Amino acid sequence: MCGIVGYIGEKQAYPILIKGLKRLEYRGYDSAGIAILNGELNTFKKIGKVSELEEYVKDKNINGNIGIAHTRWATHGEPNDINAHPHNSQSKNIAIIHNGIIENYSIIKDELIKRGYKFSSETDSEVLAYLIEDILKNVKNDLAEAVRIALNQVIGAYAIAVISKNEPDKLIVAKKGSPLVIGIGKGEFFIASDATPIVEYTKDVVYLNDFEFAVIKKNEELDIRTISNKRQTPYIQRLELELSQLEKGGYEHFMLKEIYEQPRSIRDCMRGRINAEEDFVILGGISDYEQKLINAKRIIIIACGTSWHAGLVGEYMLEDIARIPVEVEYASEFRYKNPIIYEDDIVIAISQSGETADTLEAIEIAKTRGATILGICNVVGSSIARATHAGSYTHAGPEIGVASTKAFTAQITILALLSLSLAQKKGTIKKSRFHQLLNELTNIPKLVEETLKTDDVILKIAKIFSNARNFLYLGRGYNFPVALEGALKLKEISYIHAEGYPAAEMKHGPIALIDQEMPTVVIATNRGTYEKVISNIQEIKARKGIIIAIVTKGDKAVKELADYVIEIPETEEMFVPLLATIPLQLLSYHIAVIRNCNVDQPRNLAKSVTVE
Ligand code: GLU
Repeated sequence: MCGIVGYIGEKQAYPILIKGLKRLEYRGYDSAGIAILNGELNTFKKIGKVSELEEYVKDKNINGNIGIAHTRWATHGEPNDINAHPHNSQSKNIAIIHNGIIENYSIIKDELIKRGYKFSSETDSEVLAYLIEDILKNVKNDLAEAVRIALNQVIGAYAIAVISKNEPDKLIVAKKGSPLVIGIGKGEFFIASDATPIVEYTKDVVYLNDFEFAVIKKNEELDIRTISNKRQTPYIQRLELELSQLEKGGYEHFMLKEIYEQPRSIRDCMRGRINAEEDFVILGGISDYEQKLINAKRIIIIACGTSWHAGLVGEYMLEDIARIPVEVEYASEFRYKNPIIYEDDIVIAISQSGETADTLEAIEIAKTRGATILGICNVVGSSIARATHAGSYTHAGPEIGVASTKAFTAQITILALLSLSLAQKKGTIKKSRFHQLLNELTNIPKLVEETLKTDDVILKIAKIFSNARNFLYLGRGYNFPVALEGALKLKEISYIHAEGYPAAEMKHGPIALIDQEMPTVVIATNRGTYEKVISNIQEIKARKGIIIAIVTKGDKAVKELADYVIEIPETEEMFVPLLATIPLQLLSYHIAVIRNCNVDQPRNLAKSVTVE
């Protein structure tokens, strides 16, 4: 969601900014813009892709060593050239880029209008540029102070960067709720929403905290203060990210690359945390809270989207073997429902980006009510990773495709490790069974590799159904969240309507949709409720529905009934989601490619949802 990039130093800013915007393209956006200082303040913005902005500025003056750039994901005002960022102040001396929402913008705007200001855009962000300019009348030549005072007046979330023609030696950034990273080079600085635009220039970074702002000047030390003007010591961290992780590596799309990375990402996720020979599982990041987890009467999982589905798989696992009651909540619902939280509750927040606004807010609520909060995030150093008491990184590597794939299976892997570890410590599992499960989990990356070989069969099925208007996805038990995730993937990238359902619930409604046009994907692996799922398939066939079944290798009964079959290797029921998800990811991918959809950046979607 929205990308921010900035540069100050000796180099030409433009190439760094434009490349940075491209690195952030995966976050999803609708327009882009750039402002560069060079005696003048030149601002250029365009609806559409970064390449359209590039085309537009070809004959413009883009010289200068200080600049800011933005990709916008509209919240206030439709995507168009005027609403795109950067926004200038009325005098056009100041330019600002903003990620987030200024919630009290209309009150401030009305006040400024009364004082004679005329706004050009419909955005909340422009109001901040005008407010800073208004405050500057009282604190002459002190942009930093004006920004600080302005930020004390705004309610909402922001990551901002500000430059001014009158103080052309500095770049000012600030953060609350939305992410912002500062890269420290030799006498030069880079700023961005995440480390991806920075990593090729420097590995030394500072993650700004909420309510902090930084005055950045070339060849000077970083000056970081809180917005109540308390000086902060910058905490410089070393990035582990490699540039090669941000490129497609021969695949046509990031999503396909990430699907195929799953044997590796699951292995990386388990690395150092599991030893099957010695019956040992440890999640180092949360070991300080182990006793609390063992004593927990309840675990609440909060998440959104795909992470919420991983949470549901976690519920089945934790209840199944660790015997702890689990509730899985949408973060956006949890935060507004006056939730009941006890001090001995454990809250687990799951988010790929670690920046999901609703999840962050839900964490704050749970925290103020005394619960222990653990995080499961992919992005190291992200806001959620810092806002939680402890947590485990998924170590899946950067996920660029907007539709989550390898982050999902890595989240499930962490939840499997957690369930096993708790079951062992609580004594809710027999030693031999624990050993069996641990062994099988170690084997999962190999089985994922094998599952990926179903790609040819899936491509054929994708060709047949690429024009379908609706899809139904069914599963039971551990496969119910898989059905939800399969349907979500299809919706996200192919824009075909799809619904995921617990297979038995079908007869309470969706069965009315079944006809010879309607494909139903059934995850019918051979454990648990296998026989029941077969009955559900019969019910669909009796109404002339089409069945695409995911079955265990060697299956006979479902094969006889289904129209199309995808075979996956046999594994423990608890780990089936790690395999059954793969063909569903591939099915959505191929259908989206056949339909000519923008797989990596689907319309209207953003990678990290940093607004409510
Ligand atoms: N609220 C701002 C706008 O609509 C910023 C959105 C964003 O984060 O891109 O322009």
